[in-house]
Amino acid sequence: MSDAYLRIVDVEVPEEDAPAMGKKVIDRFRKLGLITGKLNKKCVLGEGGGYVPGPAITKYKVYRHDITKFFPPQKGYEFFDHRWNGAEPIVGGHYNSYAFPEAWAGATCSKCNKPISNRDDEFFYAICDAVQKWQEEECRGPVACPLCKKKTDITKWQCRTPLGIGNLSFSFWNWTEFDSPDWSIDIPAIVAEVTGTRSN
Ligand SMILES: [Zn+2]
Repeated sequence: MSDAYLRIVDVEVPEEDAPAMGKKVIDRFRKLGLITGKLNKKCVLGEGGGYVPGPAITKYKVYRHDITKFFPPQKGYEFFDHRWNGAEPIVGGHYNSYAFPEAWAGATCSKCNKPISNRDDEFFYAICDAVQKWQEEECRGPVACPLCKKKTDITKWQCRTPLGIGNLSFSFWNWTEFDSPDWSIDIPAIVAEVTGTRSN
């Protein structure tokens, strides 16, 4: 069984507000019963630790087999085939790496509105550099448009798949894609509602 995560990135929350905002989102998840317990490092592969899924997950998500017997979480937190199943809040510059570079399909310049092909290697590497720069250098990563030559920050490029780059993110280890019909709850919408900002 491979291990993967979904990531929601808040692309607008300022750096100084990210820790408090992260706590607010976690509090909401806990209230909804989506997560439970204390922050622990056994349920995620990330460094900061995460929260195991809560008992209400069976209310919001259709399962093909009965997992209720695994609540409260048992030793090793093994349920629905995975050991790593936590929700992991991450404060600090991050981006949704499942969307980039793996799902890179080009981008549109916000200055000239023209699409840049995903076959433009030079541009692709410029985007890679900008993402790295953004993480290392105070959340700034300008990228020049190959067509109009104007520089726009990496966060302003309309990328396909949307590149979420921001100061607060949440990784959900081995959770089902949020747009799956199995969910009766919209988790990205909850994050957006709590933070009041835009997420990717
Ligand atoms: Zn342009």
